Amino acid sequence: MRVRLVSPQIPEEDLRAVGEVLTSGWLVQGKRVAQFEAAVAGFLGVEHAVAVSSGTAALHAALLAHGVGPGSTVAVSAYSHVASANVIELCGAEPVFVDIDPHTFNMDPNELERVVHHADAPINAVLVVHAFGQMADIDAIGAIADSVEAPLVEDAACALGASRAGKQPGDATSAACFSFHPRKAITTGEGGMVVTNDGALARAARTFRNHGQDPGSAPPDFVAPGLNYRMTEFQAVLGAAALPRLKEGIARRREAAARYNALLEGLVEVPFVSHDCQPVYQSYVVLLPAEIAAAREDLIGDLAAAGVEATIGTWSIPTTTYYRERYGYVAGSYPVTSEVFERSLAIPMHENLDEEDQSHVASALRAAVNRFREAAE
Ligand SMILES: *Cc1c(COP(=O)(O)O)cnc(C)c1O
Repeated sequence: MRVRLVSPQIPEEDLRAVGEVLTSGWLVQGKRVAQFEAAVAGFLGVEHAVAVSSGTAALHAALLAHGVGPGSTVAVSAYSHVASANVIELCGAEPVFVDIDPHTFNMDPNELERVVHHADAPINAVLVVHAFGQMADIDAIGAIADSVEAPLVEDAACALGASRAGKQPGDATSAACFSFHPRKAITTGEGGMVVTNDGALARAARTFRNHGQDPGSAPPDFVAPGLNYRMTEFQAVLGAAALPRLKEGIARRREAAARYNALLEGLVEVPFVSHDCQPVYQSYVVLLPAEIAAAREDLIGDLAAAGVEATIGTWSIPTTTYYRERYGYVAGSYPVTSEVFERSLAIPMHENLDEEDQSHVASALRAAVNRFREAAE
């Protein structure tokens, strides 16, 4: 038996739609991209959606659109995909990391409060990450960002379909960025989207994704040094076809998460969900007992031998080589991030997991945890 970490499904009819686009002769950023943008804007209830070539491109274009550049300082969650910080560096700006809450793995508002009042330079923007598809406390974080007049941008790469206290990504902030990588809830292969209710920001994002070309001017005029971050038409039809299936997929992930919670309670720390959150379980991430964290690589090997794909949660960005060497961070600089980074384990999570798969994962994990526990005694 083999249980995959993720299992992106592309139904037959979507393949046909892609085939039609490929034979149409119009391959890049045309009416299908516009249709997908309108569908995502409608789903979220936001005014503008700008499709781009990846989640990373969405973050980069969003920060550029906010004027983040050399001399800017951006507060960002320390525990995330490295893309969250890399885009800040690539704008020529400086990231200031913020430690996380040990239960939700999201930016801790108290830590942000400390950072905005003690950073060497004023904070020009806050980039909040919704870890593994559970929204961060954007009300508390937004209030702190407001108090220093810094726009709040969401790295919602994992959080399409998530909500918190009735708000979805993009509702209460300056902009939100999504990814359509195969590990996310709907996929276009590679792809991303910036959403915002601010027309000027949307226009700036459209400018940066297309070589700096002003989207409103004919004949073409170039008003900024932009990039090529365009989405293709065949990716857009994949996204537009998958979007109507998103809610059902999330419901299945939530059912699978509830089954895991029951199977794994007491063996590992199962994901904590805030009372006002409706997460999407982009990943199902548990914390291993602290005494066996050092054996995680071997434990992942045990699981692989049992046919179960597993991996780490995500990264402690400050302790990756680049950020450590550039800014002098050590493991103790962000203690909660360090501990969560070392103990986290992502186990298979997708909408086609069945009960048999999950029992198999649970028994393989139980055997592995017990083996390393005994070894650690
Ligand atoms: C996946 C992810 C990204 C990067 O998205 P890509 O589409 O792979 O470029 C950025 N931030 C977070 C939190 C992610 O999970």
